[in-house]
Amino acid sequence: MKIIENECDPMKLSGAEFTLSIGCSLNCHYCPQEKLIRRYVDLYGKEELFMKFDTFVKCLKNIKQGGGISFAGMVEPFHNKECAKMIKYAYDHGYKIWLATTLVDATEEDFEILKDVCFEDIQLHIPDEQGNSKFVITDEYLRIFQLFHEKFIANGHLTYSCHGGIHDAIKPYLSRDVICSSAMMNRAGNLEYEELHTYAHKGRIICACGSVQQVTGWSPSVLPNGTVLLCCMDYGMEHILGNLALQESSAILNGKEYLRCKQGLEDEKIPVLCRKCPMAKAADGIDPSEQDLYASNAIKVAEAIKKYIKGELAEAVLRASLSVRSVDIIKMIADYIGGGQDLHIRFRQAFS
Ligand code: SF4
Ligand code: SF4
Repeated sequence: MKIIENECDPMKLSGAEFTLSIGCSLNCHYCPQEKLIRRYVDLYGKEELFMKFDTFVKCLKNIKQGGGISFAGMVEPFHNKECAKMIKYAYDHGYKIWLATTLVDATEEDFEILKDVCFEDIQLHIPDEQGNSKFVITDEYLRIFQLFHEKFIANGHLTYSCHGGIHDAIKPYLSRDVICSSAMMNRAGNLEYEELHTYAHKGRIICACGSVQQVTGWSPSVLPNGTVLLCCMDYGMEHILGNLALQESSAILNGKEYLRCKQGLEDEKIPVLCRKCPMAKAADGIDPSEQDLYASNAIKVAEAIKKYIKGELAEAVLRASLSVRSVDIIKMIADYIGGGQDLHIRFRQAFS
């Protein structure tokens, strides 16, 4: 399967995240599920709580071929029984695939459908000992977890994510080669917990979503009926940009709400979610009001990296990165430990 080069159409979306159903059984403490469920049902009722395959295909037609499709959004993607079929369809039509999953509701048949898919990135959300994510750890869950590793560890760059300390029951099944992150965030102001840092960005800002390679790689979130939200932080559905199953991308990108959000990045008097979001960054460098936070977090992460490299528990490494926005501080960390631009590669090597 050959990845088709990105279609060059500035009026087509270059990627999207898909929320394939409404309501996540994991109901994580650090995820404002209730907000999304209430608002979606208020607006659209309960008829389209799961995305249909033909809705997915209609939406995909409005995204540039060769663009990035993320199966994650604001729900466990395998809650939708057609998730594997949608991933395979998108991959076979030349899209790059990202997957974030707990594997809850994933089946062996799904893995068979996905066996030839090369993922750009897989993030596996694993059980935590505090019960912040409501996993039910059964023999079947552990069997699927193990099978997933056997089948897909070579099919894409895998990372773990955990909403606390790693649960003892899952530890024997983890790969030592995989980095685990436990950084929690306020979901752009949709969670208000004392332990989470809050943000009130000033001046001109940009969205620095994604990895270092994906700085400013913004993509909207598509809900089961095709509704497009600003992004997967928008649990309260404050910014509805349109409907990708009913409209072309150009209508969405020229639409009133999208243009208002863009203006909101330039002008702090126009309220947009991004002002409260950890993924936003000052357009002209680090926001001076947040410089101290980044500096102290950078040092915490750097200390953890050094400890890990000395052979201490892998879990210690990213537990120290609470509230850290890695895109902004990666260079500071690299400078601190004497690393270079290849820090990610060295980081992975340290785990092998
Ligand atoms: S964080 Fe992920 S797994 Fe947890 S409730 Fe939200 S969407 Fe579901
Ligand atoms: S900065 Fe704005 S667009 Fe980017 S993730 Fe945050 S809320 Fe979404």
